[in-house]
Amino acid sequence: MQDVVKRTPVEFNQNTGKQVSQYYGSNVFGLDAMREFLSEEAFNSIQQSMSQGTIVDRKMADQVAACMKAWAQSKGVTHFTHWFQPLSGATAEKHDGFFEPIEGGRAIERFSGNALVQQEPDASSFPNGGIRNTFEARGYTAWDPTSPAFIWGQTLCIPTIFISYTGESLDFKTPLLKSLSALDKAATEVCQYFDKNVTKVIATLGWEQEYFLIDAALYNIRYDLQQTGRTLFGHAPAKGQQLEDHYWGSIPERVAAFMRDFEYESHLLGIPVRTRHNEVAPAQFECAPVFEETNLAVDHNLLLMDVMEKVAIRHNFRVLLHEKPYAGVNGSGKHNNWSLATNTGKNLLSPGKTPKTNLQFLTFFVNTVKAVYEHADLLRASIASANNDHRLGANEAPPAIMSVFLGEQLSKVLDDLEKSVHAGKMSPEEKTALKLNIGKIPDILLDNTDRNRTSPFAFTGNKFEFRAVGSSANCGWPMTVLNAIVAEQLITFKKDVDALMDKKVEKDEAIFQVLKKYITESKKIRFEGNGYGDAWKAEAKKRGLNNIPTTPGALDALVTKKTMHLFESLGILNHREQEARYEISLETYTKKIQIESRIIDDVVNNQIIPAALQYQKSLVENVNGLKNILSAAEFKKAAQTQIDLIKEISERVTIIKDAATNMTEERKKANNLDSAKKQAHAYCDKVKGYFETIRYNVDKLEGIVDDATWPLPKYREMLYLR
Ligand code: ADP
Ligand code: MG
Repeated sequence: MQDVVKRTPVEFNQNTGKQVSQYYGSNVFGLDAMREFLSEEAFNSIQQSMSQGTIVDRKMADQVAACMKAWAQSKGVTHFTHWFQPLSGATAEKHDGFFEPIEGGRAIERFSGNALVQQEPDASSFPNGGIRNTFEARGYTAWDPTSPAFIWGQTLCIPTIFISYTGESLDFKTPLLKSLSALDKAATEVCQYFDKNVTKVIATLGWEQEYFLIDAALYNIRYDLQQTGRTLFGHAPAKGQQLEDHYWGSIPERVAAFMRDFEYESHLLGIPVRTRHNEVAPAQFECAPVFEETNLAVDHNLLLMDVMEKVAIRHNFRVLLHEKPYAGVNGSGKHNNWSLATNTGKNLLSPGKTPKTNLQFLTFFVNTVKAVYEHADLLRASIASANNDHRLGANEAPPAIMSVFLGEQLSKVLDDLEKSVHAGKMSPEEKTALKLNIGKIPDILLDNTDRNRTSPFAFTGNKFEFRAVGSSANCGWPMTVLNAIVAEQLITFKKDVDALMDKKVEKDEAIFQVLKKYITESKKIRFEGNGYGDAWKAEAKKRGLNNIPTTPGALDALVTKKTMHLFESLGILNHREQEARYEISLETYTKKIQIESRIIDDVVNNQIIPAALQYQKSLVENVNGLKNILSAAEFKKAAQTQIDLIKEISERVTIIKDAATNMTEERKKANNLDSAKKQAHAYCDKVKGYFETIRYNVDKLEGIVDDATWPLPKYREMLYLR
C-alpha cells in the first residue's frame, strides 16, 4: 500500500477546515455506503450476518461484491485484498487488480462473490507451528462480515480470518471471534438472573497506543533500530525524563502536524481516535480512540499502526512501536480498556443506581477478578514477547507479576461482603443493609477510583484496564485470553448459583453466597500498593503468585492442562492449535534474539571497533608526535591522559570482541539444540547474557571517542525532536 504515502496534502488541506463528522468513515463500506449501493435484500442479509454472525450465501455474496466494487471504483480504487492477521504479528495483504483481460485485447473490471468470500494464500509461508501438512500447503482466508471493508490507498481491504486446509486457525482473529462468542453466551446467561431483556453481550475495547517518533534521517543510519526496532547501543542522554517536563507538555508543531495527518487518515477509515498527548519519555506520545466492539477495535488498532507508520514517512519521521526503543527512558505499552456491554445499552462493569443492578455489577466484577486469579499465568503468557520483556518489571511498567487493583472503595465493598455473616443466616434487615451498602457504590466511585499506574490490571471506574500489553502487539490475543477466562468463570458461576438454587436457596442469596466464596478464594490476586517496589515482589512470593520475568518461561502457561482445557472446552482453540501457537511463540522469541545478536555482531565489528581504533590511532600519532617535540619530563606530564585513553580503548575493544566471539559460539550451540523450547531458553539465558557486557563497553567508548568519529546517532540527538 505504498501509494498512500504519496497522497498530496491537497485533500488533507481541503478538509482541515471541516469538522471530522463531515468526512468520518468515508473510506469504509459501512452502513451508509451499503444502503446506497446494496439492494434491500442484500442489505438485510449483510446486516443480519454482522449482528448475528450468520453466513452470507454465495448468491448474496456476488451481489455484495459487485456493489463493493462499484463503491470502491467510485473512489478510484483499482485493487482488492484480503486483509488478515497471521501469527507473525503484522497484518498481511496481497493485492489483486479488479481488471480481467477479455477478448480483443481489452479488459474489464470484475470482483466476484467468490473473491470476496474466500482466497487461498500459501499457508507455508506464514508461521503455522507444524499445522500445515507437507502435502497440503493451502490456507484459506475467509471474509469476516462483522468488520467492514475499507479503502486504504488504492486498495479495497476485506478483513478476513486465516485458517489451514484442515480448518485450524493460523491467525489471531479466528480465536478472538470464537472467544467473543463464548463470552457472549456465558455472560448473556448470567444476565438472565437480572434482566430477561438481555439477549446479547459484547466485549468492548478501548486501547491506548503509545509510540515514539524519530527523525527519519537519524533512523536511516541506525542499522540496529531499522532491523530490530530498538537501539542496541547508546549512552543515556544527560537530560532524559528526570525533569518530567515532557508528559502532557506542549506538543511540538512538527509532531502535531503528523498527528493531525494520521488522525485525518484514521477518521476516513472510521477509526475513532480522539485523544493525543505527549507521554513520559522525550519523543514519546500516545493516542487513544473511543472504545468499540472488541473485534473491530483490534482491527482498527492494527490498521492504525500501519497508518501511523506510513504517514510518519510523509513527515520525515519514523514511528517506533517497539516496547523499548531506548534504554534508560520509559518504554511503550498498549493499555487495553475492557468492559462488557449488553444489547440493552448497559455497561455491566458500571456500578448501577439500585441494589439490584449493583448485584449484577458485582457479579461481573467479582467474576473477572476470580478469572484473573485462576488464570494469572496464562494472562502473563498472553503479553509475553522478546520486546515486552524489556518493559515488564523494569520499574516503569507493570511488573511481570499479575495482580488486580480495585481501588479503595471497591476493596472495601468486597471486604465487607466477605466479612458479612453467612448470607443464609442473615436477618432480612441485615440483608437489606448489605444490599443498600452495595447500592451506595456508584456516586463515589467514578470520581474516586485511584489511578494506580503500577498495576498490570486495574479497575478504573467502569472498565478494567490491562496495562501490561506491549505497544507493538496484536492486542487481539490478550483480549482472546481475557474473554476466554471470563467466559469460563461465568459458566462456573452459573453452575454454582444454579446448584444452590436447586437446593431452594433464593436467587439473590445464592448469588451472594457464591460471590462471597469467590472473593475469599481470589483474594491473593488483589494488590493495592506499589507494584514497582521490591516489597511487592517479596509479598507476591509469599502469596504464591508467580513472577516470570522472561518470555520462554512465561510461555509454558500456554500448554498447561488448565489452559488446554480452557480453550478446548470453550471451542476457541483445539489441542493442536494451542501446541502450534506455543511453538510459534517460542520460535519468534528465538528469532528476535538471534537477529539482535547478529546485529550486535555486525555493528560492533563494522562500526564500533573500527571507529574506536581510528580514534585510538589519532591518539597514538599525537602521543608519538609529542614524544618528538617534548622533553622526557614534559612528555610524561602531557601524554599521560592520552596514554590512559589509548589503553582504555584497547581494553574495552578486547572485552567487546571477546564477548561477541563467545556470544557467536553460544548462538551456534543454541541453534543445534533439538527443541524450540530448549532453543528459546538458550537464547534467553546464554546468548542474551552477552548483550549487556557488550553494550556497557560500547556505551563507555561512545563517551570517550570523539563525536566526529562516532558512527551512530546518539540518544541526545534522537530523543529531541526539532
Ligand atoms: P484514562 O484516564 O485511562 O485515559 P479514559 O476515560 O480516557 O481513561 O479512557 C481510556 C480509554 O478507555 C479510551 O479508549 C476509552 O474509549 C476507553 N473506555 C472508556 N469506557 C470504556 C468501556 N466501557 N469499555 C472499553 N473501553 C472503554
Ligand atoms: Mg488509561
